[in-house]
Amino acid sequence: MGQAALGTRQGASRAAARQDLLGLTRQELEAWAEAQGEAAYRGRQVFKWLYQKRGSDPGAWSNIPRAFRGVLAERAAIGRPALVREEVSRDGTRKFLLGLGDGERIESVLIPDEDRLTACISSQAGCALECGFCLTGLMGLKRNLGPGEIVGQVLTLQGAAAPGARVSHIVLMGMGEPLANFGNVERALRILTDPDGPGFSPRRVTLSTVGLVPGIRRLAASGLQVNLAISLSGTTDEQRGRLMPVNRRYPLEALLAACREYPLPPRRRITFEYVLMDRVNDSAEDARRLTVLLRGIRCKVNLLPLNESPLLPFRPSPRQRVEAFQKTMHEGGVTATIRESRGHDISAACGMLHNASEQGLPLEANPASGEKALDTPQASP
Ligand code: SAH
Repeated sequence: MGQAALGTRQGASRAAARQDLLGLTRQELEAWAEAQGEAAYRGRQVFKWLYQKRGSDPGAWSNIPRAFRGVLAERAAIGRPALVREEVSRDGTRKFLLGLGDGERIESVLIPDEDRLTACISSQAGCALECGFCLTGLMGLKRNLGPGEIVGQVLTLQGAAAPGARVSHIVLMGMGEPLANFGNVERALRILTDPDGPGFSPRRVTLSTVGLVPGIRRLAASGLQVNLAISLSGTTDEQRGRLMPVNRRYPLEALLAACREYPLPPRRRITFEYVLMDRVNDSAEDARRLTVLLRGIRCKVNLLPLNESPLLPFRPSPRQRVEAFQKTMHEGGVTATIRESRGHDISAACGMLHNASEQGLPLEANPASGEKALDTPQASP
């Protein structure tokens, strides 16, 4: 068991010594059940209750013996992040401010589309990477999220979804850098893709990274086979290094080498995200260089015109240049899609998650978007 295993923290109060069930893999829950004197398969039953029936009250878990239900009520907790506030965009995107057990706050986003419902979840509270065009970087890193806090976001968002609507896709594109919190993210992905639990096909899960090369290699070695997205946004080390300080540690050549070696399942591709900024990284020369850089990598490119904020020193590329960029990519043999931004009016779009209201940063008024306060218990039982 890893850091989620508990009851061992010194000086922990009896309440704090409860085992948080979220964040344990199925195998760990089986071991925990055994440690309580139960058969291992009882742990698997609990796992199913947590994720397939999304149960939060062990008292109602009918196939669990009464005595073990008592043990669960006494020694376990289900620490789902609490809904603190919700904002709804004109386009249907819903942004949630979530409260964690220690009072830390994060944001997650539900993005409805014709045939899918995507949960965009966070891997850290804040972020340490300071990409020059991303608002999350302005917060700095508060802390890593635990595996239960990562998995719990999906449960909380599913609970907030419209009746009958199921979260179909998960993207780790919220706050934070997932590969900077590798162990907890890996454990969360094992839980989310477990067929006995939430059962998300790895094909419907995408991890997005700024390009931490050792993390990409560890992800490759993990065998998880989730989709990989790389935030690129620059075509020379000089340019990318100015926008994304991480490039000084892992320059383009090393990053793209790790991408070339990434073991892609058949018919799958790596996604490169490229944020287009007016006269910063959007020239015809950039587009040509990008096609050359990506040669030999099975990939597609998502072109994201910058989401604007008064807190950022850049402007989005004009539409005409975005389209010219795409055309040059196509001529160079690379598939490139222009992504329309979702949830911009409520600061739910890419790179805009920053808890500004929590920090007294100025926010644009959003008269057209709805906001409501919510109050849900943090953990149960
Ligand atoms: N740290 C990871 C996960 C966050 S994903 C990563 O960076 O990949 C967030 C995505 O939003 C990244 O692709 C990032 O490049 C993009 N992004 C950041 N700021 C943005 C902005 N202002 N406008 C558009 N996209 C932005």
